[in-house]
This record gives sequence, C-alpha cells and structure tokens, in this order.
Amino acid sequence: MKVHLRQVPTDGLHIEGEQDSGILELNDSGISPSSPVRYSLDVGLSDGGLFATGRLEVDMQMRCVSCLETFTDVIRINDFACQIELTGKETVDLTPDAREDILLALPAHPRCDQGELAGKCKPEWPVSSPGDVAEPESPKVWGALDQLNLKQKK
Ligand SMILES: [Zn+2]
Repeated sequence: MKVHLRQVPTDGLHIEGEQDSGILELNDSGISPSSPVRYSLDVGLSDGGLFATGRLEVDMQMRCVSCLETFTDVIRINDFACQIELTGKETVDLTPDAREDILLALPAHPRCDQGELAGKCKPEWPVSSPGDVAEPESPKVWGALDQLNLKQKK
C-alpha cells in the first residue's frame, strides 16, 4: 500500500488493489485472515502531508466464543482515513495505518451469529442469564475436569 508521491496529481489519485494479509501480523490463534487485504482509497496531498480516505476489507476466519466453531466474516472499514506527514521520502506507506484500523475493527469476542455472514450459533452450553459475565472458556474447563473426576472414580 505504498504511494509514490510523484504519481499523486494535484487533484488526487484513486488507488485500488490487494495486499498480502501478512501485513496484519496476527498472532491470535482464534482469528486469522483468509483473504488478502482489499483496499480502495482516494489519496491526495495537502499542507506537507498525504491523506488517504476510503475502504479496507479482509476476510477473517474466527472462532466463535459461544459454540467454538470456526466461521468466516468480512471485516470492512468503510471510513478509513489517515494523514501522514511527508518526510522527504518519495514513497509513503499506508500499510501501518491500514493495519491499525483493521486490528481495531476485529471483534474482541467473535460470534458466528453476528456480522455480515451471520449463521446460526449453537452454544455448547445453556446461555447464562442476563447480567452474568460471560466466561466462554470456563464451562469447557469445568466439563473437562468433570470428565477427569469421573474417570478417576471408576
Ligand atoms: Zn457460534
């Protein structure tokens, strides 16, 4: 997502394309990109800076915190905007700003029944009453411990 300043005319430039999703540097086991990062941006120059506005998109494979199934959803940022100060270099890299916005847009608690490609979530345990703080990991842990206890009793 690099922009050559000399290629930006005074009335701005539109750039579109795909960038390897490796730029996201995601190390989360529950969430991983399943497509390149798609971008469609309007770039312009003003007051010693370069600004870009537009859209970012990437397909993400995530694990639902409720049913633990893996599902895919589109992370879409329709109002991406950044302003980068020019430092004298001929190229400006928009990647760090795009990366930051995409990471901020990722759901902290992905659910397969939310988002654009929502499916039907089938939780593995009864939904807790409202007011309870959701602790998606613990029921599984206790379940495993129960099984362990049963085995030991035999
Ligand atoms: Zn689910």
